[in-house]
Amino acid sequence: MSIPSLLILPGDGIGPEVMAEVRKVISWLSTERSISFEVSEDSVGGAAYDTHGVPLHDDTMAKAQAVDAVLLGAVGGPKYDNLDFNIKPERGLLRLRKEMDLFANLRPAQCFDALADFSSLKHNVVSGLDIMIVRELTSGSYFGEPRGIFKENNERVGINTHRYTESEIERVARSGFELARKRDNRLCSMEKANVMEAGGLWREVVTEVHKAHFDDVELSHMYADNGAMQLVRAPKQFDVILTDNLFGDILSDCAAMLTGSLGMLPSASLGSPMENGRPKALYEPVHGSAPDIAGQGKANPSASILSFAMALRYSFDMGNEASRIESAVESVLADGVRTSDLLQAKGEKPVTTSEMGDAILEALTKSL
Ligand code: NAD
Repeated sequence: MSIPSLLILPGDGIGPEVMAEVRKVISWLSTERSISFEVSEDSVGGAAYDTHGVPLHDDTMAKAQAVDAVLLGAVGGPKYDNLDFNIKPERGLLRLRKEMDLFANLRPAQCFDALADFSSLKHNVVSGLDIMIVRELTSGSYFGEPRGIFKENNERVGINTHRYTESEIERVARSGFELARKRDNRLCSMEKANVMEAGGLWREVVTEVHKAHFDDVELSHMYADNGAMQLVRAPKQFDVILTDNLFGDILSDCAAMLTGSLGMLPSASLGSPMENGRPKALYEPVHGSAPDIAGQGKANPSASILSFAMALRYSFDMGNEASRIESAVESVLADGVRTSDLLQAKGEKPVTTSEMGDAILEALTKSL
C-alpha cells in the first residue's frame, strides 16, 4: 500500500507556529511507531497572497485534491484587512472547503478534567463532557438562492434562502450516523421542523436514513432552540448532534465555550469518499490566526495537534494512535503544564508553544 499523504498549509499568524508542533508529532509517529506519511507543505491565506497575489494558488488547490488529508493552521490578519473581498485570506479557506465539497463539519466539544474550571458553567456540568457536533457545511441558509438585498414596494428587503435537497440531508446524516457508531451510538438531530418546511424535510430524511441503514443507532430529534438550551443546561446528555449549516454554526460555538479555551478546540471537515475509500478531508483548529500573540511563542498548539489526531481517526483509521495523542494532551494538562491562554492563577508561569509541543511528545513517549 502507498504511504498516506498529507498537505500542510500553515497559513498566517500563529498558524506556522502551531503547525511546527504538529510536524513534531508526525515525526514522532514515524520514529517511535513506524507510521509514516508523505508530507508536503504549501501556502494559503495571506502567505499565499504575499507570494502569488491570490489566497490559494491553483497548484495548491490541485495538491489539496490529490492528498489523503489537508492539515491547515489558520488564515488572516490585520495586514490583509483592506484587501478586496475576493482575495482576502479567508477566501483561500472557503475555496478549499467548496472545491473539495467538504459537507460534514465535525466539531468535538470535549472538556478535559484539568480544564473544567475554565468553563463558564459549573464543574460538574462540564467535567468529562465529550460530544460531537456534525454541522452541514456546504448548503442551507448561507448558500441558498435567491439571496441578496432587493427593492420591494419602495423599501429594501434582505433575502437568504434556507434550502436543502434530500440528497444533501442524506449524505450528512450518513456521516453523522457512521460517526455515532464509532462513539456512544446515539445521535440527536436538531432543526426547526415545527416552523420550517426545510426543517420538516430534514427530520423526515434523517428518519428514513436511520430506518434504512442505521437502526442500531439510537436516534432522537430536538428543535434547535431547545437544543441550545439543553446544551448549556445538561450537555452530557448528548453524544452526536446532527444539524444544518445555520443552526450548526451557532450550536457548535455554544458547545465550544463549554470547554474553556479556543486553543484546545480541533475540527474536521469531511467530504465524499475518494477512490481509496478515504473521505476528502481538511483538519484545522477552530481558532484563527491570533495576530495579537503571533510570533511570540504564546500560542497553544493543542487544537492543531488534536486536529491531527482527528485525521488519524477519520482519514487513516488509526483510532488507537488518535486516542494516544488525546491522552497525551490530557496528561500534560493534568500535570499542570499551561500555555498562557490556560493560566488561571496569578504567578503561574506559562510554557511556550514549543515547550507545550515537547511536553506532549514526552507524554507520548511515556505512553509506549
Ligand atoms: P482568533 O481565534 O484568531 O483569536 C481570538 C482570541 O483567542 C485572541 O485573543 C487569540 O490570542 C486567542 N487565541 C486563538 N487561538 C489561540 C491559541 N491557539 N493559543 C492561545 N490563544 C489563542 O480570532 P480573531 O482574533 O477574531 O481573528 C484573527 C484573525 O483570524 C482574523 O483575520 C480572522 O479573520 C481570522 N480567523 C481565521 C480562522 C481560520 O483560519 N479558520 C478562524 C477564525 C478567524
